[in-house]
Amino acid sequence: MNQKNRAKASQNSQNQQIIHNFAVYIYKTRMSKKHNFYAGPAILPETVLKQSAEVVIDFAGMGLSLLEISHRSKQFEAVMDESRALVLELLNLSNEYEVLFLSGGASTQFFMIPMNLLSEQGTAYYVNTGTWASNAIKEAKNFGNTVVLASSEDDQFRHIPKGFNIPTDGNYLHITSNNTIYGSQYQQFPNCQIPLVCDMSSDIFSKKLDFSQFGLIYAGAQKNMGPAGVTLVVIRKDLIGSSGRKMPTMLNYKTHAEKGSMYNTPPVFPIYVSMLTLKWIKEMGGLESMEKRNREKAELLYSEIDRNNCFEGTVRKEDRSWMNVVFVPKKVEWESLFLESCKLNGCVGLAGHRSVGGFRASLYNALELSSVKVLVETMQEFEKKYA
Ligand SMILES: *Cc1c(COP(=O)(O)O)cnc(C)c1O
Repeated sequence: MNQKNRAKASQNSQNQQIIHNFAVYIYKTRMSKKHNFYAGPAILPETVLKQSAEVVIDFAGMGLSLLEISHRSKQFEAVMDESRALVLELLNLSNEYEVLFLSGGASTQFFMIPMNLLSEQGTAYYVNTGTWASNAIKEAKNFGNTVVLASSEDDQFRHIPKGFNIPTDGNYLHITSNNTIYGSQYQQFPNCQIPLVCDMSSDIFSKKLDFSQFGLIYAGAQKNMGPAGVTLVVIRKDLIGSSGRKMPTMLNYKTHAEKGSMYNTPPVFPIYVSMLTLKWIKEMGGLESMEKRNREKAELLYSEIDRNNCFEGTVRKEDRSWMNVVFVPKKVEWESLFLESCKLNGCVGLAGHRSVGGFRASLYNALELSSVKVLVETMQEFEKKYA
């Protein structure tokens, strides 16, 4: 072995040692298992965390970290291609749709959508089902004619409005499929002639749907797809450029569509971790199997809420979310007591959103049924002690 090869071999074995130590460390710290019910950023599959840790040390056998290589390397281009393909495959969409990985969070889409889709003379229709929908409406109003067709605000967002008329003349209808804060979710989507735009930040990839009913789907990654820092946009190609407006290059979907989300440096690490999560979903059996898993978890928890004398659900039954289960204690003083009991049993992230209080259990794809069982047992112990 010459000196160069020896140095390389030694570097490789050092890298392997670092990876090994890291894996042991992760394994040990996560042995004292936490049941992660946080709403977002949220739980990711164990295997995804482990593989993500490894590529921070050595990516694709390059002897370099994923964090220190060019996004234009063939190794990273492969990640981008695979991520795009996985999105279309899992959503069962054809290449009539463009998959974009953007920055700025779902909140940036609140204004990019009207910028790109709402024409100067046109109208954008919205349904207001909660905080995120309200934020989207506020941004659209900056761009043009924005009409709120239906709202559940008068009912503290405890249901999904249905049965309203949808005009056939607008640029699009915007809805929020799952209301992360209030815990309601569309179980059926409005039938409309105009493009349906959907904020799926907190329930994308959670169940099987006919995704071709949407003109544009978007989601911040950090709830059900990956870590914070990347936003997924899936758009029907004919809608790109449909507003006819002039806009900044970076805010134009066309820019990113033409350059495969590589016009500028994309958020490489969040994209990589999202790709691993999408692969995990596929290996687990795709959206059908996610749906089964998520239904089981939600049914178990809601049936306990309905049975238990200490708690009650806040959302109309038919509109209950499978992803974010919102419930309240029947006595105010039980709020902090129950959170304390949860903590003792390793259940974390259960405090309701600061704007609504009570409890919220987020049951995203990666959360195991066994974690929900621990929560249900905690609720039963609590009832025995206090009710
Ligand atoms: C969290 C969330 C958002 C905001 O996402 P950011 O990526 O933080 O901007 C928007 N919509 C919904 C439904 C959400 O759950």
